[in-house]
Amino acid sequence: MSNEARRGRLFVVSAPSGTGKTTVVERLVQVVPDLVMSRSYTSRAVREGECDGIDYNFITRARFEQMVAGNAFLEWADVFGNLYGTCGEDAERELAAGRDLVLVIDVQGARKVRSRGLETVAIFVLPPTFETLERRLRGRSKDSEDAIRRRLATARAEIDAVVDYDYVVVNDELEACVDRIRAIVLAERARPRAMAPVVDRIVNSFNRKEVV
Ligand code: 5GP
Repeated sequence: MSNEARRGRLFVVSAPSGTGKTTVVERLVQVVPDLVMSRSYTSRAVREGECDGIDYNFITRARFEQMVAGNAFLEWADVFGNLYGTCGEDAERELAAGRDLVLVIDVQGARKVRSRGLETVAIFVLPPTFETLERRLRGRSKDSEDAIRRRLATARAEIDAVVDYDYVVVNDELEACVDRIRAIVLAERARPRAMAPVVDRIVNSFNRKEVV
């Protein structure tokens, strides 16, 4: 589909920490054209292997608070004691250019986006089982036992929010999961509202023709 006069759609992807949602969305934007992943701002420290301006825009808590005061965020939340937010201007730039934008944000952030009355397609990614999530969290992180327990407790609470989402996808296998989300994005792009500019052009082309 072409980009003619089309405004991008806002997709929200949430999942408990350790479900692999960032890897899934990074892969998704490689296989779906005109779909970009939003880069959040955060006050948390850079982890080993992360890059400022790529993984996140890393800023100080003071700067983050200034941005909150200046209404710069479309949504923001305190997650595990660090602040994370989506810059409204950054999001608007992508949407106005006709690109679909994926926000990979926690359930509080998703709630805030919805409460602003913004039209979104919200996708919740689930781990196959609680045990898989626990294994992934223990396997990947150098977090303390306390921190892991906190993440697992948060995951239990977050999963209850699944009913507020439009779609649910299980991350049992990376490519399969990416494929399911890709199908959702493509289906949403085929909705009459999303197709309106194309429909208008085609309908106009019919009206221009004299029927003999
Ligand atoms: P991490 O520190 O592991 O990268 O991310 C921790 C949590 O913060 C994840 O659940 C992630 O989805 C969430 N997060 C990342 N960026 C944002 C954001 O801009 N807004 C909100 N509300 N949550 C975010």
